[in-house]
Amino acid sequence: MELYKSQQLIIYNSLSNKKEDFVPLTEGYVGMYVCGPTVYSNVHLGNVRTFLSFDMIFRYFKHLGYKVRYVRNITDAGHLENDADAGEDRIAKKARLEELEPMEVVQQYTVDFHNVLNEFNFLPPSIEPTATGHIVEQIEIIKTILDKRLAYEVNGSVYFDVLKYNESEHYGILSGRNIEDAIHNTRALDGQSEKKNPQDFALWKRAQPEHIMRWPSPWGVGFPGWHLECTAMSTKYLGDQFDIHGGGMDLKFPHHECEIAQAQANKGVTPVRYWMHGNMLTLNGKKMAKSTGNNILPGELISGNNDILSKPFAATVARFFMLQAHYRSILDFSNDALEAAERGYFRLMNAVNALNNLRSSDTSSIDLAAWKQQCYDAMNDDFNTPILIAHLFEGVKYINQLKEGKATLTEADLKEFKETINAFIFDVLGLENVSVQDTSDKLSGVVEMLVKMRDDARANKDWALSDKIRDELQTLGIQLKDGKDGTTFSVN
Ligand code: AMP
Ligand code: ZN
Repeated sequence: MELYKSQQLIIYNSLSNKKEDFVPLTEGYVGMYVCGPTVYSNVHLGNVRTFLSFDMIFRYFKHLGYKVRYVRNITDAGHLENDADAGEDRIAKKARLEELEPMEVVQQYTVDFHNVLNEFNFLPPSIEPTATGHIVEQIEIIKTILDKRLAYEVNGSVYFDVLKYNESEHYGILSGRNIEDAIHNTRALDGQSEKKNPQDFALWKRAQPEHIMRWPSPWGVGFPGWHLECTAMSTKYLGDQFDIHGGGMDLKFPHHECEIAQAQANKGVTPVRYWMHGNMLTLNGKKMAKSTGNNILPGELISGNNDILSKPFAATVARFFMLQAHYRSILDFSNDALEAAERGYFRLMNAVNALNNLRSSDTSSIDLAAWKQQCYDAMNDDFNTPILIAHLFEGVKYINQLKEGKATLTEADLKEFKETINAFIFDVLGLENVSVQDTSDKLSGVVEMLVKMRDDARANKDWALSDKIRDELQTLGIQLKDGKDGTTFSVN
């Protein structure tokens, strides 16, 4: 029997601002769409956090036995510098500044994104569509919305008519904004804009002669608005209504609000049943962002090449650090927090490495079923990974007790214990077992052995051997220091 039949998952739905029982549209299947990166620069660790939250969610759905279609797009056109449909296209601007073809920019940063995902052990999504690959679908949606008179054309651009839409629907349903208040509080249009109202947003923009990313359309040569691509790609691959739509909190408004309005206007149904938003990774208390420079890149983390970092960290340690916070909580990045996470990570991995040496007994002194259900309960409660990790550390305690003969498990229980620990740590949390600390522990053991041999040589007055050991270690960068309490060593 699939696990999802016995494990009721509860999800916090940003649309209702409540935790709700998760009931998919089709039993046993989950359709999930997550907004992907705009590929005009390297992803930073903040971006990684949001994608990691949804990787963990994807993994847990799969673990529960659901068949998941996970769609995560690549934004390779249409994302302007400014949310108010102003400024340059981010990719076109980068291409202009670096004298590259826009598609060269897209290729370079898509490759970087994929490398980062591999480094962090992400599962690939089921479909990874691009905005430029779906211009035709976007144009079709615009035509339908125009036919329904919920959009208007001006000088080769098409805008969504938010006020008209709001007469029969609720623009602001997700973000909790009230459009009347918004209108009241915004200054009148300055006459420069073609929009009827500042709240209206572009579905299609006419391309100025210098705009290098351009496509023909019924309204002339132009390019699609950013919000439209996600409506086109999510509904194309997941249906007019689908289970889950995710992204970072900062996308709630206007991006996701506009997606709801477009899809509702296009097909007359609310597109998404559960909206999920991940919270931000901050640095020095401020959101990590590309534009402000307040960010750390994955490459800097792995090389240690950033003033904030005291040393390099494995990607899986950063993964563990992020999963120690709930996906809806703000998480502040710091070297100290990462070092603490690293210590916890190694404690967990050392315990996992000890699993295979455990022996079974005739009886079990641990209530394994209760512990296992606590792990599931944590994940079933809106993917509460910090609570799950606390239960996994309870499991570490059991491992130590089993090692020391202070607890027992039957053969069947021991097998289930190992399977459960492995499933949660590797399949659900997606951690990898890198044994950096292990290696350094082993190396310390070897140096200590040599120190002991040198002590013996000195006791035997074999000065030639004792000097040889000291000198050879020195050439390897290991300094021996003789003190009154014995010999210590340091590594340069
Ligand atoms: P972008 O490429 O800017 O569209 O961002 C890609 C994803 O990263 C979006 O889901 C954003 O919400 C998310 N994101 C951006 N900055 C952060 C941050 N500091 N912490 C967490 N997620 C972020
Ligand atoms: Zn999107």
